[in-house]
This record gives sequence, structure tokens and C-alpha cells, in this order.
Amino acid sequence: MKVLFIAAEADPFVKIGGLGDVAGSLPLAIQRQAEVEVDIRLIIPFHDAIKSDFFSIQPLTSFAIESTSDSLQAEVYTSQINGLSVYLISGPPISSETQVYAPDASLDGFKYTFFSLAALQLTRELEWHPDMIHANDWHTAPAIYALNQARAQLQEFQNSKTLLALHNLPYLGVGAGAAMQTFGLPAAIDSPLPWWAQDLPLPLGLLSADHIVTVSPTYAREILTPEFGSGLHEFLQLRSGSISGILNGIDTESWNPATDAALETTYTVDSLAARQTNKVALQKELELKVDSKSPLLAMITRLDPQKGVDLIPQAFAQIANQPWQFVILGTGVPELEQEMRWLQAQFPGRVKAEIRYDFDLSRRIYGGADAILIPSRYEPCGLTQMIAMRYGCVPIARATGGLKDTIVDYDLSNASTGFLFDQPSTEELADAISRALVVYSNSDFWSGLQLRGMNTDFSWDRSAKQYLALYNRLVDQ
Ligand code: ADP
Repeated sequence: MKVLFIAAEADPFVKIGGLGDVAGSLPLAIQRQAEVEVDIRLIIPFHDAIKSDFFSIQPLTSFAIESTSDSLQAEVYTSQINGLSVYLISGPPISSETQVYAPDASLDGFKYTFFSLAALQLTRELEWHPDMIHANDWHTAPAIYALNQARAQLQEFQNSKTLLALHNLPYLGVGAGAAMQTFGLPAAIDSPLPWWAQDLPLPLGLLSADHIVTVSPTYAREILTPEFGSGLHEFLQLRSGSISGILNGIDTESWNPATDAALETTYTVDSLAARQTNKVALQKELELKVDSKSPLLAMITRLDPQKGVDLIPQAFAQIANQPWQFVILGTGVPELEQEMRWLQAQFPGRVKAEIRYDFDLSRRIYGGADAILIPSRYEPCGLTQMIAMRYGCVPIARATGGLKDTIVDYDLSNASTGFLFDQPSTEELADAISRALVVYSNSDFWSGLQLRGMNTDFSWDRSAKQYLALYNRLVDQ
């Protein structure tokens, strides 16, 4: 089977968010898991941030992509990463931009439509005809729409199946409609899409993909509802027979408390007590009161309304007399950054707001904090809860999307791995923290939660098997 995997970013070439993790890990995991050889090739834009010397990137070919006003030359480069073939596409719309994602959606629309069309054209230039085209989010959805338009005329695409993976539905590609038309991709005016979505890249991809996959099974159901459907829920209900969810994984080699060099002390399920050393070191580093018995709660997150950060101050005010400490590591919306600094001022020695991106500190928090708070309003999958559980840091999360699929709510059975609550409200968050603090005071119950989380398989291999099964099913159809 030949699979073309198209994404806007991929680790280690360039990573901005969770999509970079997925595109950097999943194609390799699919290749590893396949029983019959799968020729999977990754294709990303040759962003300014990608260091060509570091990845020994070589020129491969070039060809023109036509727009209504111009003929634009696509330059294709090639590289390898652990045996995986990678193509990088450059050309005027890509090389003229310094950022992976521009603040101006219309510039991004032009860049990513060009990239999507060049990715398709490359398969023709190479006479390498994919059985599966796996695109991700709005940036590469135009490839699926364009293929659908071309199928009738182009023999080589007759048997290609398309899969659109949704990592974050609300990013529809608003502002990119004009760019799509510049490249000859018309609005779908007689389609079941709502009128306002008929020229947007993600809805057009959702309209034309053979299958849609979300990054967790619960999110696949949630997007069919008004609360989570970004105005597309009625249209998505029409397509519900072709929507499924496959959980993301994490890189369990990189995220491993047994080998993590950022930690004061490494540990495993057999040496969990060593976490106390990390906790005390972390309290010192953060200038919190050093007390190994005081439950240390944490958040590591983009400071964005999606993540429910605004619920935190009120929730802590409600349980101020309980013995918690709290650290938040994150950057984002200035008002939320300010609110977190204010919270620190309210609780000196108990709250620390680290307003920055710090990869090593995030590791020390996962390896030293007792619990992580994730009160998200929506969460297509979420990686933090999986990383935290791998490090024995117990999640307290809203039961939505991938959080619901990866965390088993506390009860006295031998399955629970964290604490879940239903609504993103300060009351329910405060209540879930209080529940967790009661369990924390019983060290046997607490270490049971930690060990079950650490023993859960969050590797990419599990997801890769499900993607392979889906590819096979679609190709056989
Ligand atoms: P999203 O992709 O929606 O931001 P995820 O939970 O899927 O949320 O992934 C977030 C990732 O980014 C996690 O690996 C988390 O550790 C990391 N992260 C978020 N904020 C920071 C930060 N300020 N410093 C270091 N790592 C961060």
C-alpha cells in the first residue's frame, strides 16, 4: 500500500503544536506496525524554520502550479528520517513567509492551498500513485477537495482513497476561501454545507473526504453536537457513517521517567518514592514552601479559553483553606497571563505562575507534581494527561474528548487513573480537586492511581494498528 501523509508541520523538522507530534511519530509507527510493507511518505512545507544542513535535505524536482493570475514554481526537496521518505515543498507562497502559521489567515490560505496542490502534483511527477491520501486539519484539506475534483479526469487518482484527520475542528481556515478560488478550487454552492462554509478549506475537505477521523473516539461523537460542532454539526451528522475516532499516542521513549535527563531523580513503577526528591527540588526551584506532604497541583498549557484556565482562580478561592500548592507553566492570551500572575500574588509561597515556554521545566513538573489540572472546554485528544500519567502525575480533568477516553474516573475499583468532572465550571473543578485531595491523604490509594496510570499503554503503536486497519478497509472498499 502506498500512503501520502500530508501535514503543515512535523517533528523533528518543525513543531509548533500537537499536529507536529502526530506527523512526526505516526507515519513511522505505521511503518513499524505494518505486517505487509506500507510505503508511507511524509510531505510538509519547507518552512523557513527548517534547517537544511541538519537534515541533509537534497533538491529533487520542480514543476509549475497554475493560479488564475500566475504560474508558480514548486521546488521539491527530499530527506529521510529513520528510514521514512520525506518531501519538503518550497515555492514563492512558502519561501516568502517566515512563520509556520501567519496571523493573517488569507496569507496562510494562499500558502497552504499552493502546498496542498503541489503535494498532489508531486505524486504525478514521480509517477507514484498513492492508494491513501491522509491529510490533516484545514491546511491540507484542499488536497482532498482538489483530488475529488480531479478524479473524473485523472486516471491515476481513480483508486486513491482520502482520509481527513481532525485535530482541532474550530480552525476551519476562515479567510482562505479567496486563495482556494485563485487556484481554481471553487466554492461548493450546491452542497449540504451551510452557506457560510461553502468556500472554506476544512469544510470542503470534510465534504469530499472518503473518511474523517478525529483524534479521539469521544471527540468523534461530540462534533455532531451544537456545543462542539463549530456550526457544522448538522452537516457532520449527515456524514456520521464516515466519521470515526482514533486516539493519539505519545512518544514513550522521549517521555520516560526512567531516563529523563531533566529530572533530579529518574524513577520507575518500582521506585515511585523517588518522586518525592523531585517534588522537593521542584518546590525549591519554584520558591514554594518546601513540604513533601503538601499536595502540589500543576498545569502545563497554552493559556487559552479552550483550556479552562479562567476557571482556576475562582476554583482555588473556593478551596483556599485546603492544603494545596499550585504551579502553572504556560503562555498565551495576555489577560490570562495577567490573571495567573495575580493568583500568584494572592497566594505567596503557595502558587507559582511561570509565564513562558520551558520544555525542561515541563518535564520536572510532570516528574515532581502530584496532580495535573486539565479543565478544558473541549479537547480533541490532549497529550498532557497521557504524559502526566506516564510520569505518575495524576490527572484531574473535565470529561470531554480524549480526556474522557484516556482517564478512568476515581472509584474504589482497580481501574481508575484520575479524576473526571462533567461541566467546565469553577464549582465542579473545585469539587474534583477536593475529591482528589481526600484520596491523596491515603498514600496507598494514591499510589494505586499513579501506578495504574504509569502502566497504561499510550504508545503510538496502538494508534498505528488502528490507522492501518482503517486504511485497509478504505482501500478494499
Ligand atoms: P494542545 O496541543 O491543545 O496545546 P496538548 O495537551 O495536546 O494541547 O499538548 C500540549 C503539549 O505542549 C504538551 O506536550 C505540553 O507539555 C506542552 N506545553 C504546553 N505549554 C507548555 C509550556 N509553557 N512549556 C512547555 N511545554 C508546554
